[in-house]
Amino acid sequence: MSKRILLVEDESIIRLDISSILKDNGYEVVGEAGDGEKAVELALSIKPDLIIMDIKMPKLNGLKASEIISGKLDIPIVLVTAYSQKEFVERSKQSNVVGYLVKPVSEANMIPAIEVALHQAEKMKDMKQAVDSAHEKVEKRKLVEKAKGLLMNHFNISEEKAYQRIRKVSMKHQLAMEQVAEKIILKYQTL
Ligand SMILES: [Mg+2]
Repeated sequence: MSKRILLVEDESIIRLDISSILKDNGYEVVGEAGDGEKAVELALSIKPDLIIMDIKMPKLNGLKASEIISGKLDIPIVLVTAYSQKEFVERSKQSNVVGYLVKPVSEANMIPAIEVALHQAEKMKDMKQAVDSAHEKVEKRKLVEKAKGLLMNHFNISEEKAYQRIRKVSMKHQLAMEQVAEKIILKYQTL
């Protein structure tokens, strides 16, 4: 499936140019904006795979627009500017900026930058999912540990016995261990 790109650039000739390069390379330009405010609005409604954003624009500049969008959505952003100033690069680290293009933008410098940006974004997403799932596992284990402790106290049984009890219920009712643990916690936890 072709990647959906939101293109933000206030100079219409450059925007047209970038847009046709993108289309020639199999990308789908799902939205175009000429200022930062419109960029934020479109990003939130369209939720593209990638945003190509000019820095110097009327109303709201590309850096501020990127910050606002990054605060709400996890969309990779490639910034475009006429000059590469250190301050811009520093500031862009605050948001989801994964790439940087210096004008004049050509097919030769833009397409590799976009490919890298999309690849990085994909990797970040995988990493985030891995972290989330590891976190979830820890949380589930904590629930089971807590339920075990409550059973041990309430019935004056060993840790092993408490564990077996949770496991038995879990198998009998085809519930996950942590679901059983939640029920136990609700039942035996005294406030
Ligand atoms: Mg501009």
